[in-house]
Amino acid sequence: MTASIFSCRLLRFLLTAVLSLCVAHAAIAAQPLVRDLPPGLQIPAAAQPGPNFTVDSATEAYLGLLSPEQHQSSDRYFEGGYWLQLWDLLWSVGACVVLLVTGVSRRMCDLSRRVSRSPWVSTPIYIVLFLTALFLLELPLSIFADFLREHQYGLSEQSFGGWMRDQLISATVNALLAAVILTFIYAAVRRTGTRWWVWATGLTLVFLMFVQLIAPVYLLPLLNDYKPLPDGPVKQAVLSLARANQVPTDRVEWFDESKQTTRISANVGGLLNTTRIAMNDNLLNKTSLPEIRAVLGHEMGHYVLNHLWKEPILLSLLIGAALGLLSVGLDRALASWGGRLGLSDRADPAALPLAVASFSVIFFLLTPLQNLIVRSYESEADAFGLNASREPYGWAMSAMRLSTYRKLHPGKFEEFMFYDHPSGYERVRAAMIWLKENQPPAGK
Ligand SMILES: [Zn+2]
Repeated sequence: MTASIFSCRLLRFLLTAVLSLCVAHAAIAAQPLVRDLPPGLQIPAAAQPGPNFTVDSATEAYLGLLSPEQHQSSDRYFEGGYWLQLWDLLWSVGACVVLLVTGVSRRMCDLSRRVSRSPWVSTPIYIVLFLTALFLLELPLSIFADFLREHQYGLSEQSFGGWMRDQLISATVNALLAAVILTFIYAAVRRTGTRWWVWATGLTLVFLMFVQLIAPVYLLPLLNDYKPLPDGPVKQAVLSLARANQVPTDRVEWFDESKQTTRISANVGGLLNTTRIAMNDNLLNKTSLPEIRAVLGHEMGHYVLNHLWKEPILLSLLIGAALGLLSVGLDRALASWGGRLGLSDRADPAALPLAVASFSVIFFLLTPLQNLIVRSYESEADAFGLNASREPYGWAMSAMRLSTYRKLHPGKFEEFMFYDHPSGYERVRAAMIWLKENQPPAGK
């Protein structure tokens, strides 16, 4: 009975998704709006230094670089993302419930135990099977949110085949990494009883640092080609910025992300000897040298201010809080429904969908806190970047370019709830404050 109600709901979900896809498809054909600002640095007259310069009017002048249609499109894309976060949660919880009530999870777990009686072998096999099933059940929403919607808003020109290939690569890597960390977490569950979540938190931190260490060398190149940036003014400017700010690397690379997205991006990634500076081809092709210096100044800020260490530590603590709540909730849920669903106890991997669904709900509620942590580090890197690059115009311009995917001027509450980076308005304003405070004295 319960199963049929869920299949009915799932069917309705799928129908809604198909309808949304058709609507989105029609919108692709009907929307020729150019969303990117033209290449090159623009400096509005009101942002020029002089006796009439004010931070407010300079900031407004930057926001005026976008047409009303471009503003609307930016707001619509980002605000739609608020709802997508909710649909994404409901969809994945629904998928986990389907796997539980249909007995699929139980059967996958039994199958993995037939392969080996050792939990060190059967647990990772089950986890890979579970994540594959979850990937397939979540695929309709992924196609809508990450493929069709990105095309609808001009944020991607990738073919469906190319997109699907990337999804399969990411899903495979995620499944393998998740199999490793969850196998260790299940060992902790078996050995440490009700304190398992403390061990799981520590393991999560080690895992996050490990992924950060190997990502530049082993993970990111699976999706994109990373090549040394040829000698020239951009490379010289980036190396000079790195030397001046004690970023100990001379590896500057570019990668071909324009095949996936029209967004600009860069990062200073890796730890220890995997550290390298990378920027995507959109940043190189669509922006100006002052913008590149400003963006790289920000990215170097993350490195120099040790965000690569601090952020995983704080996020692990947040995950730890969520795991603590999960440990209480999961035991109660298993006591109430475990018998009916054929699940024994918290160490039974077949109960993983229940744990994942509960954890997703708890972590969803903690999203504003997660955003607060990430946003405050981003603000720090913003300030560092402005001081390091001394490019307020470049920073303001690149902040305006991010309007293709981030609403420029949210309300305070909206920013607190949904923004993991400062808004474009805040960034342009910070750049104009920096400009005002660093204007050359009159007569020089
Ligand atoms: Zn950043």
